[in-house]
Amino acid sequence: MKSKYIIIGAGVSGLVSAYQLFMRGEADFVILEARDRIGGRVITQNNIDLGAVWFQQGHRNVVELLKHLNLGKFNQYASGKSILVYNTAAPAHYFESDQTQPSAYRISGGTVNLIDKLAAHIIDKIKLNTVVQDIKEVENKVQVLTKNGEFLGEKLIVTLPPKLAVKLKYIPELPEHLINTMLKTHTWMSNAIKVGISYERPFWREQSFSGTIIGQIGPVTELYDHVNADETNFSLMGFVNEGLRDVSPENRKERILSYLETYLGPQVRHYTNYIEKDWSQDVFTSCENLKSLYMSPQYGASVFKSFYMNDKLFFSGTETSPVFGGYLDGAVYSGVRAANYVLDN
Ligand SMILES: Cc1cc2nc3c(=O)[nH]c(=O)nc-3n(C[C@H](O)[C@H](O)[C@H](O)COP(=O)(O)OP(=O)(O)OC[C@H]3O[C@@H](n4cnc5c(N)ncnc54)[C@H](O)[C@@H]3O)c2cc1C
Repeated sequence: MKSKYIIIGAGVSGLVSAYQLFMRGEADFVILEARDRIGGRVITQNNIDLGAVWFQQGHRNVVELLKHLNLGKFNQYASGKSILVYNTAAPAHYFESDQTQPSAYRISGGTVNLIDKLAAHIIDKIKLNTVVQDIKEVENKVQVLTKNGEFLGEKLIVTLPPKLAVKLKYIPELPEHLINTMLKTHTWMSNAIKVGISYERPFWREQSFSGTIIGQIGPVTELYDHVNADETNFSLMGFVNEGLRDVSPENRKERILSYLETYLGPQVRHYTNYIEKDWSQDVFTSCENLKSLYMSPQYGASVFKSFYMNDKLFFSGTETSPVFGGYLDGAVYSGVRAANYVLDN
């Protein structure tokens, strides 16, 4: 299959690039996505954001994109008593958030709304279940080999996290300094385990709890209220202690519920839905040996500002962004930058 531009990856960055091409009047492109869904590290299941959730007012690229797409935002709920756990044997310590401080925001309808809005105009250009394996320079074109056949283009944007992108086979090989940087670039949040628990009522709010529980020593290191913008779906969502990665799912669930019960009461056990996602097990995000974690260098390395394969290959994705690299904002920035680069060069 031939198209002028090929984008690999339908996460925020790839979708933003595609949307930017579309907005600038370019229709000759295709997006190749390995998974059977779009969104990458954004996934909302049962109203729970198992990937990205929050943005801040300073995340200008996200703020502007949401305005442009006419998407709403709302404050992360933080009213009432929050709990700090620094010792599981000590009594609970309560604190209240300063309501005058700027809040973290959530996207109305879940972060997936951003994905769906971006994809709406370009959905017919996305090829799901298309795992890219090789990238080959063939005269003045690039050939992309996938498990579903070959694609030929003039310019290619690769949005995979650098640690995954470097594992593809490149002919000719990438320069060594680029390979070294890619190998060292940690994939943001690829080690995270998330949990979401839904209820018929927001029982914690009814008892003047905010739903926030913070503490590095318990089975859940951070927990937050995750009620949707319309206040029709009542959930708590948090990060699971990575020390529980290797215990059985039943054991992990029991330890999580028992811990939360200590602080929020027996209603914790009367859930309507329980869901977990360990991103380290997801081969299209993570490839780390998680016995330890090394997070350096900073994101947005200068090697990602250049084209490779004689001006045909450009790397994008949040880890390549000098602006809020790792975050949604970095993904949006890199997506716009990549599309403008390939169109203008
Ligand atoms: C648990 C978690 C919580 C987070 N919380 C926040 C938050 O609150 N706020 C925030 O700003 N950010 C947060 N983030 C980060 C945010 O999700 C990312 O910055 C953003 O989604 C990255 O988008 P991306 O397009 O650069 O990369 P990705 O979303 O990783 O997209 C890459 C795409 O490439 C695809 N792909 C991989 N391999 C191949 C292959 N061989 N062939 C074809 N396609 C392939 C993948 O399936 C994926 O769709 C969080 C991330 C996680 C995991």
